[in-house]
Amino acid sequence: MTQPVPPEGALCGGHSDSVATSLCPRCGAFMCPRCENRVRPESVPMCPACWTLRASKVQSVPATGIAPATLGLIAGVVALIPLCPIIQVVALVLNIIVWVHNRRAPPPTGRWKPLLGMGLAVLGMGITALLRYR
Ligand SMILES: [Zn+2]
Ligand SMILES: [Zn+2]
Repeated sequence: MTQPVPPEGALCGGHSDSVATSLCPRCGAFMCPRCENRVRPESVPMCPACWTLRASKVQSVPATGIAPATLGLIAGVVALIPLCPIIQVVALVLNIIVWVHNRRAPPPTGRWKPLLGMGLAVLGMGITALLRYR
């Protein structure tokens, strides 16, 4: 990804006393080194406005991701009750869906919850099978 460069002599959008050294890749705002926000040292810098927007988006992801993950974990715990094969299958499928969904979310978005839920569901299946075919 090549970074766009502001025109010669352009001033920073946030500091009228500073010459712009870079452009925000998202909104095209002129930035001076003081305004640059980076995820990693080598990544393309973002302007303060877009940085704030990004931060609020990153924070909102776990908020929406936790509910189904917690639900999957509860289903996994319920699946530990033997002789409920339907609940175990539902718990396993639910946790797989949550895990696939959460894979794209940045960590730590409770990725361990669907994995733990899957483990509990499989354990529940094992307990049921042991009791049934003993
Ligand atoms: Zn921007
Ligand atoms: Zn600036």
